Amino acid sequence: MNVILLRYGEIFLKGHNRRFFEQVLQQNILLSLKGYNFDLQKISGRFEISNYDETQEKSIISKLKKVFGLHTLSVAEKMETDYETIKSACAKLDLNGKKFRVTTNRASKIFPVRSMELNAELGGIILENNKDAKVNLHNPDVEIRVDIRENGYTYISTDVIECAGGMPLGTAGKGLLLLSGGIDSPVAGYFLARRGLVIEAIHFHSYPYTSELAKQKVINLAKKLCDYLGTVKIHVVSVTHIQEEIHKKCDGDFMITLLRRMMMRISQKIAEKNELGTLITGESLGQVASQTLQSIKATNAVVSLPVFRPLIGFDKQDIMNIAKKIGTYEISIQPYEDCCTVFLPKNPVTKPRIEKVLKEESKLNIEELLAKSLESEEIIEVSGN
Ligand code: ATP
Ligand code: MG
Repeated sequence: MNVILLRYGEIFLKGHNRRFFEQVLQQNILLSLKGYNFDLQKISGRFEISNYDETQEKSIISKLKKVFGLHTLSVAEKMETDYETIKSACAKLDLNGKKFRVTTNRASKIFPVRSMELNAELGGIILENNKDAKVNLHNPDVEIRVDIRENGYTYISTDVIECAGGMPLGTAGKGLLLLSGGIDSPVAGYFLARRGLVIEAIHFHSYPYTSELAKQKVINLAKKLCDYLGTVKIHVVSVTHIQEEIHKKCDGDFMITLLRRMMMRISQKIAEKNELGTLITGESLGQVASQTLQSIKATNAVVSLPVFRPLIGFDKQDIMNIAKKIGTYEISIQPYEDCCTVFLPKNPVTKPRIEKVLKEESKLNIEELLAKSLESEEIIEVSGN
């Protein structure tokens, strides 16, 4: 019988947290495979999926590859731990002339033959039945893993598939992702979700200066993230009146600094209301005028929640590569304008002095502007396919 063996990193699974992590991971596996028929059981240090429809194996695996906390998986043949059975399973392997090696792992020692001897013996049987294959211990094309577990079963697999890694979603609290339509912020959300953080998103628009299509783009990005996140709640908030007010009353070169300070304030309010413990942005040091050290200092100063910026040290190219990998890139490059591009100053300040920022900001009625934005909030819940 074929089963799918799921492996998770155990280094962080110490002490009493372990059961919690495993329970959350198990729940997330079940959620990701909603609609499929299968059995899931926990075996020592692994999960096992059995009794699934083998015609669905590919699509099941592609779902599992997106479950955070799973590090690798293998399709394996499962059999009772019996030497003759193991030998005849090895005899049936078809290696197609490839270089291989056998790696036996005896988690259970009930079986008297040592791993090294087993490797040699099973390797010999495989060679007998695959005349054109060769043993290569250091650089094999195929590693045949013979996993003898404590549960009385042996699992033989010939390939290991990388999964998303990280920590199970839901084991690190909740955060609010500032989600623009750009390339960076979805990637930032992905990285922190991968550390176990549940993500809600906030998007600022300047309707009618920005179009409905810009909002749709953000919904599509959130949907794409649902491959990993399951569901995402998006808080959509207007900043039109704020931009108009800044445009009317303040030094235009400070538009972005002032707007971003307002965005942070609004985000903090919404985070607190929804019990979200951190704000997340896609900022990367020096990428644009608003992401210099001085600009970040000026925007960071108005909030007390921790702000996570997982991309701060990344090059744009690295971020783009990850965006492609997780499928958000194609959506992000669609050409709908972001509210930050409305009333864009010719010479945005790159080193805003805080006294000047405060002086410009004193021309605004911050509480009133904030309240109006919060009133405009629209909540959209999206989920994957
Ligand atoms: P991105 O590619 O994520 O849009 P960017 O390189 O365009 O980033 P900025 O426009 O300076 O950089 O935005 C920096 C960060 O501020 C974004 O990564 C995002 O977290 C947040 N942000 C910017 N615009 C918006 C918006 N309209 N709604 C929500 N968050 C935003
Ligand atoms: Mg942007």
